[in-house]
Amino acid sequence: MRGADTKLDGAGGLARVARLLRVPTDNPELTRAQFAAFCKQVPLLYFILVINSVAVAYTFVPLAPAWLTVAVPGLLCTGIAIRALWWWRQRHRVLTDAEVLRNLRLTNRISAPIGVLFAGWSFALFPYGDPFAKGQVAFYMAVTVIGCIFCLMHLRSAALIVTAVVNVPYVLFFFSTGEQTLKAIAVNQLLVSGAMVTVLFIYYRDFADLVASRKSLIAQQAETQALSDENFRLANLDSLTELPNRRRFFAELARAFAKAKDNGTRLAVGIIDLDGFKPVNDTFGHTVGDRVLIEAARRIREACEDFTERPVHLARLGGDEFGLVVDGDPRDEELLALGRHIADRVKLPYQLDTTHTGLSCSVGFALYPRAIESAEALYECADYALYHAKRHLRGRSVIFSSELEAEIRSRGVIEHLLRTADFATEMELVFQPIVDAASERATAFEVLARWHSPRLGLVSPADFIPAAERIGVIRSLTRVLLIKALAAAKAWPDHIRLSFNLSAHDICSPDGILHLIPIIEGSGVPAHRLDFEITETAVTFDFVRAQTSIAALKAMGCGISLDDFGTGYSSLSHVHLLPLDKIKVDRSFVANINDNGAAHKIVKSIAGLCADMDLTCTVEGVETKSQLDSLRQLGCALIQGYLFARPMPAEAVAGYLAAESARLGDGRRVAAAS
Ligand code: C2E
Ligand code: CA
Ligand code: CA
Repeated sequence: MRGADTKLDGAGGLARVARLLRVPTDNPELTRAQFAAFCKQVPLLYFILVINSVAVAYTFVPLAPAWLTVAVPGLLCTGIAIRALWWWRQRHRVLTDAEVLRNLRLTNRISAPIGVLFAGWSFALFPYGDPFAKGQVAFYMAVTVIGCIFCLMHLRSAALIVTAVVNVPYVLFFFSTGEQTLKAIAVNQLLVSGAMVTVLFIYYRDFADLVASRKSLIAQQAETQALSDENFRLANLDSLTELPNRRRFFAELARAFAKAKDNGTRLAVGIIDLDGFKPVNDTFGHTVGDRVLIEAARRIREACEDFTERPVHLARLGGDEFGLVVDGDPRDEELLALGRHIADRVKLPYQLDTTHTGLSCSVGFALYPRAIESAEALYECADYALYHAKRHLRGRSVIFSSELEAEIRSRGVIEHLLRTADFATEMELVFQPIVDAASERATAFEVLARWHSPRLGLVSPADFIPAAERIGVIRSLTRVLLIKALAAAKAWPDHIRLSFNLSAHDICSPDGILHLIPIIEGSGVPAHRLDFEITETAVTFDFVRAQTSIAALKAMGCGISLDDFGTGYSSLSHVHLLPLDKIKVDRSFVANINDNGAAHKIVKSIAGLCADMDLTCTVEGVETKSQLDSLRQLGCALIQGYLFARPMPAEAVAGYLAAESARLGDGRRVAAAS
């Protein structure tokens, strides 16, 4: 048993020794580091070898035959000089792991023959020398082998081979001379070699550890880098659509803008807004809404990819808004074509269980360098072009133009003058009757604001109401208008109601309509004679606050009309959730009610909805008799429009009512009765 163990131990020991003498193959980082160190150190090693050999050869020229002092060292030194040159050349070459390993193995393999050859040469010279020259041989061999071990430290196997190949014969040889000094040198060399080998082991282990820790450091760094790359990607990605996000969009815009500026090329920014997305979201819920967004994003991306001539960077800016940066000198026609292409794709039906969403999109473009100095301004202009498209050209693309620029400028002027306007004197009210469809009698007047600006003249509420909202003066404006309107309504007959428009900011501010309550209460007009018109868009602004405000008005006894129905983000849920009395069908449906089947159907279904829900259906913008006839047939209860009267000043209301009575023959009837 013991014998077997010893044999096994012996085999294991041999394997370990063999491993010590081989170049490690399982650690490419280590072999690379060894190779790099060798490129500098091996030439140095050969330098030591050549210098020392030349010195010995020189000493022996008068003592030994020429072949031993000139030919052999000449040949050996030439050989190693060639190797030295080869190593020196490898410093800047990039080798594969396999090549590195092959070269180290070669070095390992030739270290023994080189050691043998030089040691052999030294022993061959030895007998020719006088005591001094013999001493020099001993010195030469000892110093050279120590130098070699030093230079080969990084490749332990080669250092060990050289030590073994040279030192073992060295010690034996000099010991066997019987010469006292040489024996002492042999023992000395043996001990020094032992110490050197110990140092070699320690140094080599530290070197390998260093390489390993550098490797793990690099791996850690790579991991950190990968993590930060992923963070960067996520920080720049919209998680729903997987498109670049708003942050990425603006970074891309800044980059493209700088490039366009440098190259003097054109650059376009586009903003895409989905038309009709909100109702989908409200009606079918967010899950369906998300699916629609993902699908719309995919289609927009494909549409941009089809547009191959120019690089297009698409991003989701938020909600149902997407941004485009079109690089590379795009022309107007191309942008419009791109916009059309995107809209065509977005319009296609969506496979959402049973429903067809009827989605489309509007696009606003702005082009650098057309009078634009910064990337931000370019974006603002695209945004304005989009706003213009949404208001006037829904579902189409609009490129920012000098006309729009003039419009913006006038917006700026309106805002500026509105800030300093004296509402009490500059604001005037006009009143438009709301007429019962059957009896053709006015049941109410809608009050519409007019601004007589000393600088601009008459400004449309379509311009100054949004401006007042933007600059935050709408609430004080509403207060002034309501006071004036109630003062006018006080003079009217008791059965004539007043219909007053409220803005989103009036009903969605934190304290809601609180500031209006004392005005109503102090007016002398009973609250039940009042209707407040609130647009759907205003309601969606902040539904919860809107609901609170509406409930407060309702509690006072006021009526509530949902204005401009069908244009905003129409949602049946609003009709269900709000305590409404009337729905006002937007005038855009009335204009072509007789020649557009869709418009007719929409009004018909709204009238049906009102009937079902016990709401009064008001239709505004009625201009012709035939429109009135159609609306009557559809069962619309109240009519407002130029057909009956244009908005009139307060003083004209009494005259209008009198004329109405006269027209409808009230006078005769009264006379007949009496
Ligand atoms: P709106 O509430 O939809 O008001 C109806 C608009 O349609 C009025 O325009 C009116 O003059 C116009 N109109 C009435 N009948 C006809 C018709 O037969 N044909 C045509 N083509 N138009 C007709 P206006 O006065 O320019 O008001 C525009 C908008 O400004 C209003 O739309 C309303 O949203 C807003 N607004 C007006 N006055 C006020 C106000 O005092 N407060 C608030 N918050 N908004 C107001
Ligand atoms: Ca209105
Ligand atoms: Ca309206």
